[in-house]
Amino acid sequence: MQIPMKEVEIFEVGPRDGLQNEPTFIETEKKIKLVEMLQDAGCRKIEVTSFVHPKWVPQMADSIQVLEGITNRPGIVYSALIPNMKGMQRAVEAGLDEVVTIMSASESHNTKNLNMSVERSLEEVRNINEEARKHGMRVRSYIGTAYGCPMEGAVPVSEVARIAKALEDAGSYEISLGDTTGMAYPQLAFEVASAVLDVLTTARTAVHFHRARGIECANVLASLQAGVTVIDSAAGGLGGCPYAPGATGNMATELLVDMLHRMGIATGIDLGRMEQAAQFAKQLVSQNEKE
Ligand code: MG
Repeated sequence: MQIPMKEVEIFEVGPRDGLQNEPTFIETEKKIKLVEMLQDAGCRKIEVTSFVHPKWVPQMADSIQVLEGITNRPGIVYSALIPNMKGMQRAVEAGLDEVVTIMSASESHNTKNLNMSVERSLEEVRNINEEARKHGMRVRSYIGTAYGCPMEGAVPVSEVARIAKALEDAGSYEISLGDTTGMAYPQLAFEVASAVLDVLTTARTAVHFHRARGIECANVLASLQAGVTVIDSAAGGLGGCPYAPGATGNMATELLVDMLHRMGIATGIDLGRMEQAAQFAKQLVSQNEKE
């Protein structure tokens, strides 16, 4: 079997994507401790928090305190998810190096989640990139429902590639393909990653799979075969949404690291320490999210 790379970059999303939907507020100190443990484990890219209005995501209401509480270490990139230009302004004030934008490939999901059309979202990402350039910040962009939409079903691969190209043209340095509700399977994972890698000229392609009874590992393998070298995951496999049936947790970082290391692919992460971070992360969330 041909695997073209010897090294993969892991983008750790646990502190944001993993914790954001937890209904009970998690103390700021504990969020900071999770980030510190992830740094100790060797994570170099960490999505720490989000600048979404606390009315929508109360769990992330302490985003500034969390960012201020982390001992910033050289060589580590700390980023925050922003839903729009308002979030961008807060990220600028917080002095972040990197922001992460979000939109969906399917019109219905984008409208439900962000209350705007796909084209309007692309416009917003262009504006965010313009602002980011002024402040020397980088923009990473998610495309949700890249492997299917819970409302619309199959999403054309050509549409995912078109949006990815538009995001690259907007200035985003990395495009992450999100399997929002765990609908991906290996052939589709290969097809979507290949189409996006094919169309991007400067931006990197990342994949963001959710827990799907282990199928996420097969999806990663298919993506590696297509040439993807950046993979998103969350310590402990946290994530999902108690209010959105079908929204499973993120692929677990400890599982991903174990698999990649067995394959001889370096990640820079210490598996033992990552397992400790995963244990700690799981203690932060309520029981129903752990399975
Ligand atoms: Mg996720």
